[in-house]
Amino acid sequence: MRYISTRGAAEPLDFRAATLAGLASDGGLYLPEYWPTLTQEEISGLRGLSYAETAVRIMLPFVGDTLTEAELRAMCEAAYGRFSHAAVTPLVQLDQRHFLLELFHGPTLAFKDVALQFLGLLFEKFLAGTDQHLTIVGATSGDTGSAAIDALAGREHVDVFMLHPVGRVSDVQRRQMTTVLAPNIHNIAIHGDFDQAQALVKAMFNDAAFAGRFTLSAVNSINWARLMAQVVYYFYAAVRLGAPERAVAFSVPTGNFGDVFAGYVAAQMGLPVAKLIVATNVNDILHRALSAGDYSAGTVTPTAAPSMDIQVSSNFERLLFDLGWRDGGAIAEQMRGFETTKAMRLTNAQSEGAAALFASDRVEPGDMAEAMRWACAEAGQVIDPHTAIGLAAARRADLPADVPVVTLATAHAAKFGDAVERATGVRPALPGRVGDLFDREERYTTLDGSFAAVSGFIAERAMPRG
Ligand SMILES: *Cc1c(COP(=O)(O)O)cnc(C)c1O
Repeated sequence: MRYISTRGAAEPLDFRAATLAGLASDGGLYLPEYWPTLTQEEISGLRGLSYAETAVRIMLPFVGDTLTEAELRAMCEAAYGRFSHAAVTPLVQLDQRHFLLELFHGPTLAFKDVALQFLGLLFEKFLAGTDQHLTIVGATSGDTGSAAIDALAGREHVDVFMLHPVGRVSDVQRRQMTTVLAPNIHNIAIHGDFDQAQALVKAMFNDAAFAGRFTLSAVNSINWARLMAQVVYYFYAAVRLGAPERAVAFSVPTGNFGDVFAGYVAAQMGLPVAKLIVATNVNDILHRALSAGDYSAGTVTPTAAPSMDIQVSSNFERLLFDLGWRDGGAIAEQMRGFETTKAMRLTNAQSEGAAALFASDRVEPGDMAEAMRWACAEAGQVIDPHTAIGLAAARRADLPADVPVVTLATAHAAKFGDAVERATGVRPALPGRVGDLFDREERYTTLDGSFAAVSGFIAERAMPRG
């Protein structure tokens, strides 16, 4: 399997090289050259398999000959063996038709662990025995940072520089990053919001002088391997609810469009998906894009669901590319326009293609709180603000009554304890596996959000290219 860039100008790469590179050299994002498909029989054959074995079946066609099946299986068993629930991503039924898919049983309590525990092992495997040293530079609105740091702390061949916006991540999120004192982990707090942090990361990748000195890589959802690992749980959940004979809808609390794009990939691979509901908070660029063709970034409003406080959704480019006949030149032009004016219109083909599978909704804070209270009262489930946004959108979506609707529960409620307590009166307890988080020493550096300050800090500490 080869990987091509959404902007058409970078050389195609194999899975190993695409994983290590993250972003393509032309500024685009990698996608597989074609979508591998599963037959009805192959989908039925997933029934009853463990999560790790399901992961092997779904990911094998994507890794090509860069890993043997036995190597892939060993990595899936190791990555998903670290989850605290035997089902890894259990389904919980809320009422007659609504389900939660709990994705937060990994080490850092958010769905990012599902992909990053696996990605950490991939990096280790691909770098073992080489003299390559990766410099991971990333920006986080909270959960990617902690999950990446947990997955990569202490690993050889990798340094992590993680930017987070000061005061825009919860105390639990910050401490999950800053209390990891392994020497290869560098936490940088920057003044500004997540989009500014992400723009700095992009600027460093695109700065030839800086990027040329280090082997830069990414762990945010611009990295294809992450999305690939997330495709697995769409299959895992849907077969438990009757796929391939029955179609299932998913409601996905969305920020960077990574998680829901994995659902799109599952549908391209043959999973019968009735609808993908893109649930946003008041930072609703994706809702405007999908409902009115208007992809224009405003300023970010901080909310109780900070992982969705995003105005520029990197992975949306992957959808636009796939819906626009995979014309890299046209996407490069469309994205250049967006980068200049912060606004663009979807083409008719893109809008119509998206409407076939996606619905979208914008959920106000009051409706989010109401969804948290409903889950408590109806099913005794304490859910986090992100999940609540997904659930609110799921409950009012216009779908046939016989379609089961799965809301992706993207974080453990205790990660956002203050907001949950405000809405429900219940203070969710931190699970034992995160231990004495609030007693541990924190270490991080605060910088202003300028390119010079951040790139200078990293350049002093990163390992130069061999
Ligand atoms: C990252 C995150 C999201 C958004 O996921 P995307 O892949 O960026 O769309 C939603 N909820 C939580 C808890 C997250 O950590």
